[in-house]
Amino acid sequence: MTTAHAAAAVPVMLDLRAHRKVPGSPDGYMALWELLEPVLVTLDPRSGPRVRLDLGEEGEVGVWFLSPATAPVPFSAATPFAVRGVLEPPRVRYVCDTCRASGTTTYAPFTCTGCGTKERPGRVCDAHAVFLEGSLRASCVRHEPTCRCGRPGRGWCGGPRCRSGRAWCDDHLVPHPGDASLAYCVDCHADRFPACERPGCPATGHIRCEHLGLDDARACGRRVCGEHVMRWQIYGARSKGLALCGRHHRDLRGSAPEALVALVVAGTVARSQARRGNRSGGRRAAFLPRIGIVRHIFINTCQRVLDMGAVDALFVRLQDDLRRRGGRDGGNLVQTALRLLDEQAASRREDVQRFRDSHEEGRGHFARLRTLLQQSGKHELADAVTFSDYRRKSNILFVRVPQDMRSRFIGTGGAVVQELRTRLGINIQLERE
Ligand SMILES: [Zn+2]
Ligand SMILES: [Zn+2]
Ligand SMILES: [Zn+2]
Ligand SMILES: [Zn+2]
Ligand SMILES: [Zn+2]
Ligand SMILES: [Zn+2]
Repeated sequence: MTTAHAAAAVPVMLDLRAHRKVPGSPDGYMALWELLEPVLVTLDPRSGPRVRLDLGEEGEVGVWFLSPATAPVPFSAATPFAVRGVLEPPRVRYVCDTCRASGTTTYAPFTCTGCGTKERPGRVCDAHAVFLEGSLRASCVRHEPTCRCGRPGRGWCGGPRCRSGRAWCDDHLVPHPGDASLAYCVDCHADRFPACERPGCPATGHIRCEHLGLDDARACGRRVCGEHVMRWQIYGARSKGLALCGRHHRDLRGSAPEALVALVVAGTVARSQARRGNRSGGRRAAFLPRIGIVRHIFINTCQRVLDMGAVDALFVRLQDDLRRRGGRDGGNLVQTALRLLDEQAASRREDVQRFRDSHEEGRGHFARLRTLLQQSGKHELADAVTFSDYRRKSNILFVRVPQDMRSRFIGTGGAVVQELRTRLGINIQLERE
């Protein structure tokens, strides 16, 4: 075969569409030609311009004589041929790399990142694809994923750290607590199903401690289960209070009112920021509680009875403090805190005024209460009971009674306090101590 001296050469075209081993290189074509040439020289192109040569296992090769009329008769071993073109079988666009390595061409619908290059993953056919639990990611048998420990992978971890991109062995997969068909690696499992902070509690700590100081970068975040979470009811009885871990809940008792106000504000800031991100998460309060509630928070958590003016003053002081800071390092938290405090300011003024008004009225009820106690000979009780609060709207007088006298004040089956209620025509409640 030669391509020189075109005038003398016999032009042919090779049809390899039915040939199973299409040469991949010039050397391959030379080898094929050496198979064809001994048969070709025995042919007469004028008896048929297209012939098919049977190569057995390897299929057929068609030879088309492009100019039969000008071919020498007969051919001889010295006849030069010129291959003008080759018809190749249509290529399978995605070929299985494993099949190709053994010399066959198979359509490969899956990719194997181990085959091919980083930019262009290799391909793998149905027969050679390996799937692990947890993902439809395939790999070829040669690149079957292994666990970090070196053992064959059994499943992909769909957890937040791995996102189905890492395979783990049986020993390193932890099943989903409620769905045995899902599994996670140890770290992702710990992220997704964190243990409750209470030692020995088998439940998942779904709830994060919301304790946040105004100087903290983030909330405590310690995980607590639904049963062990402590709710600091700072938004009244109808809204879920701040979730606290055991330690932070215990800390509340020893905290000063100033510190508690800062916690209320920071915790509410965090909620309002979280809410903006996720509007569907709706039912948690994201506005500051009214100061009447805050006043009761002080009574219940740190046993401090402040009047409303004093509670209001705490908020005003915090607001001033944040404004000064806001100019310097006005972080997001500070800005949001100032916004919430501004929104709360009008209701604070209102509450202080209403408190003063009803305080007068409450003081009157309280004086009558004392008188009644004295008249019935309960002088010790009359001296010990102190005024706490009066709610005009609900007609409730809150009083404080020392621990060791509470049962006397209440009486058997509540008889004493009930009688006082009836005679005064108001509801009397003892502050929780
Ligand atoms: Zn294959
Ligand atoms: Zn592979
Ligand atoms: Zn993982
Ligand atoms: Zn492993
Ligand atoms: Zn628990
Ligand atoms: Zn905490």
